[in-house]
Amino acid sequence: MAAHHQSADIVIVGGGIMGASLAWQLARRGAGRVTLLERSVVAAGGSGKTGALLRRHYSNRPEAILAHRGWQTFAAWPELVGGGPVHTPLGLIVTVETGSGYEDNVERLHRNVALQNAVGVPSRVVDRAELHELQPQADWSDVTHAAFEPDSGYVDAIAATHGMARAAQDAGAVVREGTLALGIETAGDRVQGVRTSDGLIPTGTVVVAAGPWTPQIMRTAGVAVPIAALRVQVAIAQRPLDIESHMIYLDTAAGIFARPWGPGRTLIGLGGGDQHDPVDPDRHDPGADPGYGDLAIAALARRLPAMRGAAYLHGHAGLYDMTPDAHPIIGPAGPEGLYLMAGFSGAGFKKGPAVAEAMADVLFHPGHSPDWVDLRPFTLQRFAGDAWRTPWSPDEYAFSSDFGHGL
Ligand SMILES: Cc1cc2nc3c(=O)[nH]c(=O)nc-3n(C[C@H](O)[C@H](O)[C@H](O)COP(=O)(O)OP(=O)(O)OC[C@H]3O[C@@H](n4cnc5c(N)ncnc54)[C@H](O)[C@@H]3O)c2cc1C
Repeated sequence: MAAHHQSADIVIVGGGIMGASLAWQLARRGAGRVTLLERSVVAAGGSGKTGALLRRHYSNRPEAILAHRGWQTFAAWPELVGGGPVHTPLGLIVTVETGSGYEDNVERLHRNVALQNAVGVPSRVVDRAELHELQPQADWSDVTHAAFEPDSGYVDAIAATHGMARAAQDAGAVVREGTLALGIETAGDRVQGVRTSDGLIPTGTVVVAAGPWTPQIMRTAGVAVPIAALRVQVAIAQRPLDIESHMIYLDTAAGIFARPWGPGRTLIGLGGGDQHDPVDPDRHDPGADPGYGDLAIAALARRLPAMRGAAYLHGHAGLYDMTPDAHPIIGPAGPEGLYLMAGFSGAGFKKGPAVAEAMADVLFHPGHSPDWVDLRPFTLQRFAGDAWRTPWSPDEYAFSSDFGHGL
């Protein structure tokens, strides 16, 4: 029998940033035989299509903690994970939506920046004059204030996910690309193994980190997971010479997120619009719609007027894995030995290394939440009743721009 048909102590389904990070965490902490199954190639899902902005601005504490702890790994990548740097810390600006609720949103901005500071994130509220100083090429006439995170940036997502998978291999994990998990085998309400396109892997512990494909695989263990797949597009545009570079924008006032994409290029995503329709994750168009590039460039030109002259280069679509409350599911689910880390919508990349660390803590100490983050809000059980309808914070923003998730 081939070596990789051997049983495993822990099987992880899904080779995105979540699964790869968990394989690394477990292998380096001596969890035994760790096998990561990826049906395609590592980072074939959302982790290869992402904007990978490392925003740490959140209105709820546990996600702010996860975002900050994830950032700490990306920022210190060569020392912690190995290989070259993956993070480009150009500074990040968060605007809140203007309109009738603007004053309330600005008050929330102040309180949420205080929350970031309390969990260790350098962030401050800046006024229009300082925005002009920070980004003189931008038009800030529609906003009075924004949050500024001076050392936040973005990541090369495929390089980082590959780097994490390689670090997992170096630490002893087995990474099997081209291996589809077909079903989870159980006996007497306990996980027994994973049936794959390449044979059965006996194991007592399975962690499903399969993004929008999570419900398919969980169904085989009799567990219903409320995750829908939403198709979201991004465009890459060539900048005019006048804009040599720019910061990272999570700009809900302009209805966009944007970041440099290599020299002379900018990635743009649009909030709102019909790109948020649920789709079948196995049958969605991975390209951008005709006209999307022009729409994206026009929206960014509202903030950076010189972008009016930008040239559309290419675009693609990825999937957000959306839960009903747009918060993820992290923790045990269904039969003993089965765990979930999924439902990260459009905001999981930054959290990947931290969610994996938290999940590894749970696997080493079943039944306990890690002492550095409270995982209780993330249970699957919250969807059994109405608990999930309660906002996680009184300081969630009122947005009309649909980014597929709140802040
Ligand atoms: C357009 C876009 C922009 C985004 N922007 C940001 C951003 O700026 N900042 C941020 O933090 N996040 C962002 N996100 C979200 C972020 O990219 C995701 O939350 C994150 O990458 C999810 O990682 P994952 O490992 O959970 O899932 P995925 O990367 O989707 O990985 C799941 C993997 O599981 C595999 N798989 C599925 N089923 C099986 C099976 N049965 N057997 C074996 N393998 C299987 C898939 O092939 C896939 O590789 C964005 C997402 C998109 C789509």
